[in-house]
Amino acid sequence: MSRTSLLAGNWKMHTTTSEARQLAAAIANQPAPSNREVLLAPPMTALAVVGETVKNSNVLLGSQNICWEEQGAFTGEISPAMLKDVGGSMAIIGHSERRAIFAETDSLINQRVQGALKYGIIPILCIGETLEEREAGTTMTILEGQLRAGLVDTPLTSGADLVIAYEPVWAIGTGKTASTAQAQEVHLFIRGLLADIYQKDIADQIRILYGGSVNPANVDELMAQEDIDGALVGGAALKADSFLRIINYQ
Ligand code: PEP
Repeated sequence: MSRTSLLAGNWKMHTTTSEARQLAAAIANQPAPSNREVLLAPPMTALAVVGETVKNSNVLLGSQNICWEEQGAFTGEISPAMLKDVGGSMAIIGHSERRAIFAETDSLINQRVQGALKYGIIPILCIGETLEEREAGTTMTILEGQLRAGLVDTPLTSGADLVIAYEPVWAIGTGKTASTAQAQEVHLFIRGLLADIYQKDIADQIRILYGGSVNPANVDELMAQEDIDGALVGGAALKADSFLRIINYQ
């Protein structure tokens, strides 16, 4: 089954608008090899400027979170309509920093996933275990719980409408990466769960990204794995040369 790979840059709380314009332009000016998608997820203040910058390129725009309503009294949130207004088409949801620092729960995350889909935004649902959970041998149980809870009442007609990101919390921003074998094992497990939640043909279409200290030195080996369909990249997405190398993995 061939899935179009997705290389996504999560800029987190980095970049002024002028830095964002420059970084987005550097990425958009180098077309990605065919059968690859590139997504930039800048902070909210830079969504519009990055949307403008990538408008006539193949680079996609995403947000780092999304609300489930189109408008209203939701201080601090942005809506699917607002994201679409600046050219966005995807939203990262349930990032471990949202879960750990901002206490986002599985049910809130599920609400966001449902809202995104309802209004035509592709959710990138992030799941991942902590170091304590891995050492306690509960990785698969934790991931299954997060995946099933995040996808409650979330029917799909096509697997292209959903992206999952497996991000072991202990590998985010730490320089530690799961071994390719560890990552592939988890991705295969997730695809099996998706086949159980949906159907095998839909599960086979869903892209499962790996995230956690992906960099130019480890991307080739990660992307060679059967069930790794792309990368969600933090630190290494903030420099054009390193993110371009990741986009052009071998
Ligand atoms: C992330 O922000 O989702 C991430 C994986 O960060 P880093 O690549 O810096 O580990």
